[in-house]
Amino acid sequence: MDFEFLQNPITKKWMVSAPRRAKRPDQASGTVPFCPFCVENDKKEELFRVKSESPKQAKRDFGVEADWNLRILENKFPFAPIHEVIIHSPDHNNNFERLPIKQAELILKTYKERYKLHQGKGQVYIFHNRGKKAGESIPHPHTQLVVIPYSVHLEIPRLDPESYVGIAPHPLEISKLSDKTNSLSRRLTEKEEMVDNEYFYIFCPHTSEWPDEVWVAPKRRGKLFGEITDVEVQDLAHVLIRLIQIFTLRHGNEFSFNFYIYPDSDWYLRLIPRIKTLGGFELGTDVFVNTQDPKETLAFLKEHFNNPDEEKILKENQATYRRGV
Ligand SMILES: [Zn+2]
Repeated sequence: MDFEFLQNPITKKWMVSAPRRAKRPDQASGTVPFCPFCVENDKKEELFRVKSESPKQAKRDFGVEADWNLRILENKFPFAPIHEVIIHSPDHNNNFERLPIKQAELILKTYKERYKLHQGKGQVYIFHNRGKKAGESIPHPHTQLVVIPYSVHLEIPRLDPESYVGIAPHPLEISKLSDKTNSLSRRLTEKEEMVDNEYFYIFCPHTSEWPDEVWVAPKRRGKLFGEITDVEVQDLAHVLIRLIQIFTLRHGNEFSFNFYIYPDSDWYLRLIPRIKTLGGFELGTDVFVNTQDPKETLAFLKEHFNNPDEEKILKENQATYRRGV
């Protein structure tokens, strides 16, 4: 068996036992000499592909002649009943922030299509690992989608239904959504708490657990990710690219990060730069010590999101976090 969901009988917390995953190719560590996601190795079975206009156009867009723009494979080392890999593009090196904007939009649209395809089969969880510190084993940019059985309770923080920004550290009942309109209009005056984009709120909850983590929530609250509209996809691509760009200036070219998309209703995207290592306190207690003030992160975003001042970021705006606790 590839994997098994196990529940701790005392704490009721779930884990996945997946020892076969230890055998997966770790190109980053040099255990396989070739990249399974590159064009030279694209003959293997796939679930889906988006064809390129022509190999010549792909060469212009991605620097490599390919008859596809994006491919989806089954994960050969799954830890869930459905476990897919979405290869961002034929480009082995460049991720969202350095691909054509149209390609970033295509990737996000593909998330939506796959989400809708698997909706109802379980909890559709989409996540991206970039860099070794973020758990990446194949550096060719890709995203994973897993469908987790409903019986497995996932402890993912929810957006606070009472607020358009901020979160509760633990899940809240969605039934508290009543009187949403009132609380929305009341809180909409608190502009200083976020960066206001056209279709999204970008904010740093005061309960942030990681330095520089950023939450992106659609202004149309209470929706499933599968309900994202075309204009929201365009805006989200822009937001994601800009966040990665300014964090690259702040944390360096090879900075590792993760993001995930909340699988249930009232979706959001949470981006987490992996610039600190967890310590024994956090591992034992599941209580995080954050040495970066989220207000400082937000001030940084407000200053640089719309018009990044590259020189200033490089010179002055290095994060004040420390790498360990
Ligand atoms: Zn590759």
